[in-house]
Amino acid sequence: MSVAFHGAKFCWMNGEVIETGKALVSAMEPIHLGVFEGIKAYVENDVQSRGKLNIFRWTSHAERLQRSAAICGMKIPYTDEELLEATRETIRANGFDMNVYIQPRIWPKAGAPQDVHVVVPVWTFETVLGRDNPQFSKNRRFMISTWRRFASDALPPQAKTWANYGNSALALREAARLGRDGAIFLDSRGFISEGTGACIMAVRNGKVITPPVTASILESVTRDTMLKIIPEDLGITVDVRDIARVELYASDEVFLCGTGGEITPLSSIDDLPLGKEYPGPVTMRIAEYYADVLAGIIDKHKSWLTSV
Ligand code: PMP
Repeated sequence: MSVAFHGAKFCWMNGEVIETGKALVSAMEPIHLGVFEGIKAYVENDVQSRGKLNIFRWTSHAERLQRSAAICGMKIPYTDEELLEATRETIRANGFDMNVYIQPRIWPKAGAPQDVHVVVPVWTFETVLGRDNPQFSKNRRFMISTWRRFASDALPPQAKTWANYGNSALALREAARLGRDGAIFLDSRGFISEGTGACIMAVRNGKVITPPVTASILESVTRDTMLKIIPEDLGITVDVRDIARVELYASDEVFLCGTGGEITPLSSIDDLPLGKEYPGPVTMRIAEYYADVLAGIIDKHKSWLTSV
């Protein structure tokens, strides 16, 4: 029997494009250390080339995927270039001409922990970015989770392994039970770490602050993008430093950044409203510029785009 997967008819598995419903691994396979990536391709917004799709920062994501697998003791039997071709083939097979989310998944095989299945599912998505996009400006009432982000001597935050998302799922379920829209973790030391699937940034007195990699965060591609474009292109200072919980309460603006959620402002934390304006002006400015980078409008960042 064939099952639909977010409407994408085809995915790629172990070397070929196949029907998504036929991409099966045995229930006997161990799953603890499976690793994955979350990557997005955006429609180019340049009038000349409307309809053209570009993958954002393919190289950074492919490198992180290989690194995640290596950290977990697995070897992906394909090069970054082969995985890129696989992704292109899959998007074309589905005939997609709108924004596409790509989530390569690596599964260890039973009895051969170094050997893996490689699956590349894709599906379409709508961006939350845009001044008039209600998805961007909707209220997001977050809480500080009672679950801590795991310390890096327990699980590797740098590896995008499913095991890490058990921690995220517990925090999300707690937030849902308590009627909040999402959760933010403290690290094992009690400093702000990250969201359940995104990094966190705050705006205080016109400056952006964000936790360091040593605060048990994923080395996020979007965070890295922010660390370049916010100071260099928008002229706003960014300090990478430990952030105390109360500093978030006292911030003018707080937003999450990640491939999935893109830039998402938060309206309150632990029921304490943030700042005077929502979404805040600095978040809005960053989000609009980021949308232009993704759409290929900013010439100097076209090298971050890989065409499908
Ligand atoms: N932290 C976590 C836990 C995540 O799952 C993600 C999403 N991959 C991020 C941060 C943001 O990373 P990126 O910008 O590379 O998508």
